[in-house]
Amino acid sequence: MAHLWFRGADDVWSAMPLDERTVDISVRPPRLLTGESHLGAGARVTVVRAQAGAVPMWVLLVAEGGVRVNGHPAVAGLRVLQDRDEIRADPNEALFFSTETLAHVEEFTAAGSTIYCGRCRQPMQSGQMAVRCPQCGIWYHEIEKLPCWTYSSTCSFCPQGTALAAGYSWVPEA
Ligand SMILES: [Zn+2]
Ligand SMILES: [Zn+2]
Repeated sequence: MAHLWFRGADDVWSAMPLDERTVDISVRPPRLLTGESHLGAGARVTVVRAQAGAVPMWVLLVAEGGVRVNGHPAVAGLRVLQDRDEIRADPNEALFFSTETLAHVEEFTAAGSTIYCGRCRQPMQSGQMAVRCPQCGIWYHEIEKLPCWTYSSTCSFCPQGTALAAGYSWVPEA
């Protein structure tokens, strides 16, 4: 899931997952907007989720000027965020948008046509523990007999790393 990196009071980068909720990034730390509050009503800059077909994307909405993305002023009050964009709602505080998603093990559920494992090419069966590559969407077994996902250090089809508990591979520089 996409997330925002922000620097906490202790100067350590923290990741805030982005979901359907609107996030006000004009405050530190960023806060989720609830109920009555919305852009312009106390929130100067927000990040909202939009859907383009099956692909989720996140959009920066700016009510007042002075916001910079990758060093450039955010014109027209709206910008579709891209991986590793640097956002400055406050000149002294940088936030980073990241689309990196961590792989996790889940139970595979067969639906429709047969899906084959990206490593061993055997069909995936309902009830088997499995990993879906968060970058390319290919499924892999992840069971004792067939540890197909963790068998190699990366996905067979894309550069996604297969470590499960390694945490994010991209973190803003200090
Ligand atoms: Zn397999
Ligand atoms: Zn992949």
